[in-house]
Amino acid sequence: MSKITLGIDIGSTACKCVIMADAQRILARTLVPLGTGTAGAAQVYERALALAGLSEEELDYRVATGYGRLNFSRAEMQRSELSCHAAGIHYLLPDVRTVIDIGGQDIKILRLSPNGSLLNFVMNDKCAAGTGRFLNVMAQVLDMSVEDLGRIDATADRAVKISNTCTVFAESEVISKLASGERIANIVAGIHESVARRVASLVFRNGLELPVAMSGGVALNSGVVRALEQELNQEIACDENCQFAGAIGAAIIAFRQCTA
Ligand code: ADP
Repeated sequence: MSKITLGIDIGSTACKCVIMADAQRILARTLVPLGTGTAGAAQVYERALALAGLSEEELDYRVATGYGRLNFSRAEMQRSELSCHAAGIHYLLPDVRTVIDIGGQDIKILRLSPNGSLLNFVMNDKCAAGTGRFLNVMAQVLDMSVEDLGRIDATADRAVKISNTCTVFAESEVISKLASGERIANIVAGIHESVARRVASLVFRNGLELPVAMSGGVALNSGVVRALEQELNQEIACDENCQFAGAIGAAIIAFRQCTA
């Protein structure tokens, strides 16, 4: 009999849910762009069940992860984002040894062993600089959506240097660059390079073991990936499911729990 498990990642800006069969096949994946403390968790959960055509009773085990994991009472177990991202990335990209996870409010650099277990990590969760929130604020100042940043970055002919890392100061700096007539695409490229410099300093602190991949929603921004590849001088692997890595890992850990 197949084991059906569910992983839910209740993030700071988005809730993600994945249902898997035997930790091998993804039956459903859903995302609601609402973070912890909202109706996002309940919605993403219900939608995943509906998409898989399953009732709650048909689930063998549920694991919650992410910033809001402790407030979700329908899961049998809660696990940290670190172990879930490690398991999720190992499932998506089994050779990867360094994971750069950039979510809504923090940056984590994870080192994995060949079997996907977590060896060590560094984390920046004290400040919004370099995170998804920083990019959301910058996109707002430039009157565009974060989904457009990668496409616009690709049309830049140079990057305007953004020196301030603090989100509030960088916002003023971007406004002054706009006022002085700089091309928007070049400002976007500069924002991505400022994120890349900040992330690369964390990566080097933890030691870069190859291959390297990105996870979290910011991995969907091709401009950040470009700038970070340039900064690290390495190709970065990205999977279309990168924002679901935590939820996939939670579903895999749920499978281990019910087969232990
Ligand atoms: P969390 O788990 O903290 O909620 P996520 O890993 O879901 O964070 O990442 C959310 C961030 O990802 C957003 O702040 C946004 O900057 C970025 N993001 C999400 N979707 C996209 C997209 N389609 N294109 C570019 N950036 C995106």
